[in-house]
Amino acid sequence: MPSIEVHTDHCKGCGLCVDICPANVIEFSKEINNLGYHPAQYKGEGCTGCTLCFYTCPEPDAIVVHRKD
Ligand code: SF4
Ligand code: SF4
Repeated sequence: MPSIEVHTDHCKGCGLCVDICPANVIEFSKEINNLGYHPAQYKGEGCTGCTLCFYTCPEPDAIVVHRKD
């Protein structure tokens, strides 16, 4: 199954990925990262691998999408 990985300490908590995900599988963590933001986190299931979150995120190293070929 596709999934995403959020590199927490690169996330600035802008919420663009949360808003754009058509499957609604990204949320904000309750934790604070080393930049002082609530980072995005994967809810754990339901990702379709569409990559919209990756292409929307302004931080180049914050989101990785894992897809099967
Ligand atoms: S790849 Fe698509 S479905 Fe998966 S978390 Fe990102 S926006 Fe949502
Ligand atoms: S779009 Fe990127 S920087 Fe913004 S909340 Fe999502 S992972 Fe964090």
